[in-house]
Amino acid sequence: MYREEILLQNYQAVCASLEQAAKRAGRDPREITLLAVTKYAQDEDVLALLKRGVLAAVGESRVQQAWARWQEDPRFRQFSHVKKHFIGHLQTNKAAKAALLFDSVDSVDSPETIQALAKHVPAGKILRVLVQVKLTHKETQSGLPLAQARHLATQARGAFENIDVCGYMAVAPQGADVSTLRALFRPLAKAFKTDFANHPSAQLSLGMSEDFEIAVEEGSTLPRIGSLLFK
Ligand SMILES: *Cc1c(COP(=O)(O)O)cnc(C)c1O
Repeated sequence: MYREEILLQNYQAVCASLEQAAKRAGRDPREITLLAVTKYAQDEDVLALLKRGVLAAVGESRVQQAWARWQEDPRFRQFSHVKKHFIGHLQTNKAAKAALLFDSVDSVDSPETIQALAKHVPAGKILRVLVQVKLTHKETQSGLPLAQARHLATQARGAFENIDVCGYMAVAPQGADVSTLRALFRPLAKAFKTDFANHPSAQLSLGMSEDFEIAVEEGSTLPRIGSLLFK
């Protein structure tokens, strides 16, 4: 089989699983957007899916790499309608490029990061941000504990004209079983519903290749999927 067919099959399989997970939870599949994580994918693979017109949103975790691809490479630049999300750890010295390139920064975890972004958002643009929530106590996990994340979201909402705080993002621990995942996702989904009830385009970004079906059952609106799409 040609590589392009494999990629399309991967994509269709992911969409089918997303739809089934939504239906199991009594949700409308149309309220879920697939965030295709392209950070490890080959240029040719990403371009193949872009040309088929199936990608609405992509996720990158390195500013430099994302810049070279989506800003400087003409093969990618023509797909400027595809929403670009930053999902990695943002160093403040990369905030200027990030504010320019991305439509959404989904991994914000400090007031300083939001301020740095706000300083560099170009005139006329509104940058969306999600506050990253830490689901475990592991030192290596990014994000804020839920209570602090909610506090940051509340404080930052409406504080900057060019920043739209839209919801929460979180990464579940690898290899967690289903009941652990549900127990981690559920309180966050509940907080999201409360805190962003009045936001017209709020997003809860939970779930990766390994756990997106549980995440969607628990309310994720923006699962982030890389390895399953580009395998
Ligand atoms: C890499 C990455 C993903 C995608 O992970 P897969 O397991 O390849 O689907 C999702 N979210 C974040 C924050 C990532 O860094």
